[in-house]
Parts: sequence; C-alpha cells; structure tokens
Amino acid sequence: MPTTPVILFWFRRDLRTHDNTALQYALKSALERGLRVIPLFIFDREILDKLTDKHDRRVEFIHHSLSEMQRELALQGSSLLVRYGTPQEIFAQLFTEFSIEEVCCNHDYEPYASQRDAIVQALCASNGAAFTTFKDHVIFEKNEILTGDSRPYTVFTPYSKKWKAQLSEFPFAQFPTDQYRSGFWESPSLEIPTLASMGFQATNAAFPNKAMREDIISAYSQNRDFPAQQGTTRLSVHLRFGTISIRECVQTALRLNETWLNELIWRDFYMQILWNFPHIENAAFKPAYNHIPWRNGEYEFQQWCEGRTGYPLVDAGMRELNATGFMHNRVRMVTASFLTKHLLIDWRWGERYFAQKLLDFDLAANNGGWQWAAGTGCDAAPYFRIFNPTSQMEKFDPKLEYIKRWVPELSSFEYPQPIVEHKFARERALATYKKALQTA
Ligand code: FAD
Repeated sequence: MPTTPVILFWFRRDLRTHDNTALQYALKSALERGLRVIPLFIFDREILDKLTDKHDRRVEFIHHSLSEMQRELALQGSSLLVRYGTPQEIFAQLFTEFSIEEVCCNHDYEPYASQRDAIVQALCASNGAAFTTFKDHVIFEKNEILTGDSRPYTVFTPYSKKWKAQLSEFPFAQFPTDQYRSGFWESPSLEIPTLASMGFQATNAAFPNKAMREDIISAYSQNRDFPAQQGTTRLSVHLRFGTISIRECVQTALRLNETWLNELIWRDFYMQILWNFPHIENAAFKPAYNHIPWRNGEYEFQQWCEGRTGYPLVDAGMRELNATGFMHNRVRMVTASFLTKHLLIDWRWGERYFAQKLLDFDLAANNGGWQWAAGTGCDAAPYFRIFNPTSQMEKFDPKLEYIKRWVPELSSFEYPQPIVEHKFARERALATYKKALQTA
C-alpha cells in the first residue's frame, strides 16, 4: 500500500474511465502535484441490503462494468479498489490505510446520495482532506436552467427551449483521460468482491449493447413508438450507470435527430425536478393530488404485476418487464396509466414495482414517468386524459407482433377476461379524481 499521499476518485454513476469529468480532474491534478489516483468503488450496503431479490441484474451490471474497467487498468499495472460496506465505514477505514489528500467524485442528485455525500464530506474535513465534486451525469444540473424570475422550470417545453438556447455556451470539450493515465496508482490487480460474497447471484443474461446505433437514432422519430421494433436505443442502463457519457450522446443527437435530443433533455429535466423538489420522492408533486382515495386492490395489483389483466398491451409490457428488466417507453406509459386510472392503485405501488424490476431504474426518471401517468406530476398528463389500452394496442402494435411475443396464449381460453371494463373504469377514475381535487 502506498505511503505517499493519494487522491481517491470515487466511482458512482459514472462507471467509465473515458470522458469522465472528476476522474480527469483527479488524474491531471495528481500528476501536477506528484500524487497518485486510487480509483475506488463501494458496493453500498445501505442500498444492497434493501434489495430483496438477490438475482438483481443491476448489481450484476455494476459488477460486470467494474470487471471491464479492472481488465483495462491491469494492462497498465494499476487496479480498482473495490470495497463492500457502508460509505461511512469504508471511508473511515480508508483514512486509516492511506494518506488521502483529496476525494473527488461526480454529482449525484438523489436525496439519499446528497445525505451520503454530506457525511463523506464531513469525514474528509475531519481528516484534513478536500472533497471535490463535479457535474458529469447531465448537461445542465440543479439550478443552471432557470425561468426569467430565477425559479426552476416545472414545465418541460419552456425548459427545453431554454436548455437548447443555453447549449451554445456548454463547453463540449471532452475529458480525455488517456494522456493522464500515468496518474493512476501502481498496484497489482486487486480482487473485486464476488456477487456471492455479497449475497447475490448472477443471472448471466445479456445486457443491452452500449454502441450508439446511428441507424436507430436517425430513424427514431418514425419508429420510436412501436414496441415490436427496436426503434429506441436501449442505452438507458448505460446512461443510468454512466458506462456511456451524456456529452457523447448529446453530440450525436445534435448531429442526427432532434426528437432523440428531446428525450435526453427529459432526462435532465426530471433530474433537476428531483433536486429542486425532493418531496416528490414520497409524495405528489402537486399536493392536492395526495388526496386521491386510491382503491389499492391487492388482487388487482397482483394481476397487473403478473401481466394478467386481460388487456393485451398491458400484459405484454408487464411480462416483458418481468422477463427482461426492460419495457418500451410507450408501454410504460400505458401500463402506468392503467394501474393508476383503470385500477385506481396508488402510483407509488407501481413506481416501487418498476424500481424493483427495471434494469435502467432511475429515481428521477421513474418517479417523473409515474407522476406523469398518474396526473400528479409537474408537467403531467391531465387527469382526464385516460389512455384506452385497446386503442393504444391498435395504433402502436397493429399486427399484434409485440403482444404475441409476450402473450402467446392471446387467442386461447387461457387468456383472462379484462379485469375491469374500460368505459366503467374511465368514468370511475374521472369521478374519483374530480371529487378528490374539489375537496382538496
Ligand atoms: P431512448 O428512447 O433511446 O431514449 C434515450 C435516452 O433518453 C434513454 O435511454 C433515457 O436515458 C432518456 N429518456 C428517454 N425518455 C425519457 C423520459 N421520459 N424521462 C427521462 N429520461 C428519458 N427511464 C429511465 O431511464 N429509468 C427509469 O426508471 C424510467 N422509468 C419510467 C417509468 C415510467 C412509468 C415511464 C412512463 C417512463 C420511464 N422512463 C425511465 C423513461 C423511458 O421510458 C426510458 O428512458 C426509455 O424507455 C429507455 O429506453 P431507451 O434507452 O431505448 O430510450
């Protein structure tokens, strides 16, 4: 172990060594100051202990990404340092093992992450180390995009206009780490804790490819709403864990397709909503919507989870989610709308279920999507717009190609009758929302 002072670079949502803002700063500054950088990752027990399904593919994805980086670092005689525990106990331990001058990382905007980072920052201060953080995960963060009277935007369209206008000032310079690689510490390749040692099991299922498919992006506007095709990029898990850089994606979008660019802006939008309005983690963005008397039928919820509602598009989506950890965006909207409006089940139940199952689960985007569908969110679908799951199917999967892939028994007696009749459910939702909002 080195006795000379070091800089710790802490990987979190940025599992890549190229084009990584804080990592580049750490390496460059280490070389200037005659120090070395130890790249650190912590398998955080505060998060892992709450995962009840021990076949969690997100943990496997992280493990896989760390192993890739480990191979890359080993080629140059360096290594990741990977620990398992709570960040607080791991950092306390690291301060006894190394002479740490500075800890660097990229911003993470979730409420838990803010608390965690405040604890680590305090630990650094009490050990005489600097704690230096950077924007990396988004293009514009926190309160960088504000209205004329300096408030955060809560409606997407004006936000996206301002975002695009401000993009001309965005320093698109990449953050190439290659020229600073000699700043990594010298170390034999250290072991990464195995999944089994942390109580998890591998599924060995394939992950979406991280190559940016220009053919898909170019044709995105025409194809993105049809779940039977691969009309969207499936880059979400890579953007979630930072195995690709948002700056590279935005530059590709600017070159190829503005509709795709807008989706990347939605990602920034929801991230700044979560940072500016952290109450949304547990409650409706609009407080009046906290008064909706959800029916919360346990049996109906179970049928929805299993893809047995008798509405083929809803059922195909839920089965795709259960089997693969992915669901097409159009189908996410339809299944979420069905749960909250047709079944009048609290959006937080659905949000929690998606959070357990989605490979790309991200608090800001998932909460944003659910509150949009339930009508409770900042720039939500108005409550009286209720998706008709049958006409959505006719429009977006007219040949039933997607549906038959996931619901092969569609035309047999085995397939269940609709759990609720559409017209009845629609009127019940309208009446329930209306009454709750009048009395709120
Ligand atoms: P593409 O269509 O190729 O889009 C490119 C990227 O833009 C995505 O990878 C994603 O990072 C971002 N993006 C696209 N749409 C949105 C959006 N509406 N909000 C925020 N970012 C967006 N996305 C997540 O990343 N994690 C989630 O947990 C999540 N939960 C959702 C829940 C509901 C109820 C709904 C309606 C949407 C949710 N989304 C979530 C947004 C969207 O469905 C997924 O980002 C998209 O389906 C991922 O597929 P893709 O990578 O092929 O996306």
